[in-house]
Amino acid sequence: MSCQSNPDMFFDPTREAEAATVCAGCPLVDGCRIKGQAEEYGVWGGSTPLDRAVARFKATTPASRFRVHAFTTVVELAAERGHETPAQVAAATGLAYWAVAKRMEGSHTYAEMDAEVSTLRADGLTLAEIGRRTGYDRNQVYRAVNRITQAAGMAA
Ligand code: SF4
Repeated sequence: MSCQSNPDMFFDPTREAEAATVCAGCPLVDGCRIKGQAEEYGVWGGSTPLDRAVARFKATTPASRFRVHAFTTVVELAAERGHETPAQVAAATGLAYWAVAKRMEGSHTYAEMDAEVSTLRADGLTLAEIGRRTGYDRNQVYRAVNRITQAAGMAA
């Protein structure tokens, strides 16, 4: 296996894409990814430390006391890979931009939040799914829905 003959590549953040390409052709990729889920460092089965940190963040619930720590880890790992702005972190992680911006800068506005929630509702997501997707807690989602409903009523 290439990871055994060239282990440095698999633990070098600047070579993760190269390592993941090797993993893609490895017959052990699925089992390796599962085995590496709890690993802090290295590419395992094509998954990078940032991929795994994002998965851990997504697995936390809004009420979880681990959520802030999980998100901080995502931001730190993204920064180590040159993704420092909310837009860069969102693009690198697949997390919703406004959720990232909110957590990194508190820069979202109600109008921006409502637009995002409205879009996800139109896509058919439940309120719980919207919360998981955006990182907003349940009360934030409910309040956004109320604002959207009120605005629609006033426009009618
Ligand atoms: S999938 Fe696992 S075993 Fe295969 S090359 Fe990647 S790290 Fe090595």
